[in-house]
Amino acid sequence: MSIAVALRRPFEMALDFALPPRCSGCGTITSAVGLFCAGCWPQLEFLAGGCQRCGLPLEGTAADECGACLADSGPLDRIRAAVAYGEQARSLVLRLKYGRKTALARTMAGYMQRPLGELHRDALLVPVPLHRWRLWSRGFNQAQLIAAALTRLSGRPNDPFVLQRTRGTPKLKGMSASERRRAVQGAFALAPKVDVKGRHLVLVDDVYTTGSTADACARLLKRKGAATVELLAWARVVAPVRIG
Ligand SMILES: [Zn+2]
Ligand SMILES: [Zn+2]
Repeated sequence: MSIAVALRRPFEMALDFALPPRCSGCGTITSAVGLFCAGCWPQLEFLAGGCQRCGLPLEGTAADECGACLADSGPLDRIRAAVAYGEQARSLVLRLKYGRKTALARTMAGYMQRPLGELHRDALLVPVPLHRWRLWSRGFNQAQLIAAALTRLSGRPNDPFVLQRTRGTPKLKGMSASERRRAVQGAFALAPKVDVKGRHLVLVDDVYTTGSTADACARLLKRKGAATVELLAWARVVAPVRIG
């Protein structure tokens, strides 16, 4: 079975009878919900293998972790994403967040099931929270929609009320690593009465870019006693690209 067929199969269960299914990339009519057309499919770069810890491609080394992880592993125990962040992957994110195409959360979750299989099997899925002001203006948290869709597809539990964003954060674009770290410091808190001691958690987000937001969440959860904190995103930056 080709990888394309293996990745497409879950969606055959979820046919939508109300409207003809459309390509998640460009809107062309396709044979089933959650598929990409022949033009869009090759534009997605599915990630597999790579560094045991961060998932980035390993080049010319026999080690199972990349040089960056060996030097400074950071608070996340493992990072996985379905696809590399590129034009097509970005288009889905923008249409979900700003075009309110909330069905795309299910499409993304479908392709995130395989990398989810590489993370802790007893983990609770924890969407990265939005600040309430942004939640109010957008009406939904895309990370929460993706986590809920993952739960429906995989049966893994999710809890959107573990983490809270206690203040808004500025756009991190263009900041240095230390500026980003400062910008998100103290921006997250554990919800009252939530106990994560000894628990395994998987942070869920739409995109993993510089990692400063996820790192801030992971540092907090580790400080509160979480056993492992991993991250699963729809897309992650692999090579330096313009983010906007
Ligand atoms: Zn298409
Ligand atoms: Zn690595």
